[in-house]
Amino acid sequence: MYASYVFSPPGRPWVAVHGSSDRFAVHRIYCVGRNYAAHVREMGGDPARELPIFFSKPADAVVASGTDVPYPPHTSNLHHEVELVVAIGKAGSGIAVTDALSHVFGYAVGNDLTRRDLQAEARSKGLPWDSAKAFDRSAPIASIQTVDQIGHPGDARIWLKVNDEIRQDSNLTQMIWSVPEIIAELSTYYTLQQGDLIFTGTPDGIGPLVPGDAVTAGIYGLDSLQHRIVSGRE
Ligand code: MN
Repeated sequence: MYASYVFSPPGRPWVAVHGSSDRFAVHRIYCVGRNYAAHVREMGGDPARELPIFFSKPADAVVASGTDVPYPPHTSNLHHEVELVVAIGKAGSGIAVTDALSHVFGYAVGNDLTRRDLQAEARSKGLPWDSAKAFDRSAPIASIQTVDQIGHPGDARIWLKVNDEIRQDSNLTQMIWSVPEIIAELSTYYTLQQGDLIFTGTPDGIGPLVPGDAVTAGIYGLDSLQHRIVSGRE
């Protein structure tokens, strides 16, 4: 017997693929926190003592480049975090560091939007980060470039501009855990699947966004990310 759904299931969230009309269907969004020493220090931490951590966002938090992002509710301190995003193309668990790059479909530029005031409250009270990180439209992302198109970015500038002001300006070589190390470690906690995205952490220079701001972010060689912050619901 065919059983129908009580309502039509929503379509799969997706990300554009550079130079193609094909779409990358998103399965899960994992994120790495505290993966650049200068950012750990600006957050008041000690990179020698605090290892990177994992958290996640819902798949439907993705926002395509060029799409306005309404200022989210329950915050008065929305922050930008430019990050290299890894798109997984081959499933696996317990992946070896030496085999990790074979699981990568491609790379993109993302913005890990953060309600910093809610994150500070969660940190001080030992509460989960979900309300700070996993809200609606919290994952703007540019189109994915495949490994065939871009290779594996290594020594590459990563930057973010708000209006005409450069706010974040670093290099992927400053990551504490490399992309292969992130994939290997993450795959000990979860079975990675085709369609997973991994936000790999932000460099220093995080800061607030307000309605009217135009965000532009890039990583050398990848398609840049652009989006505006517009007024949210009252
Ligand atoms: Mn982040």
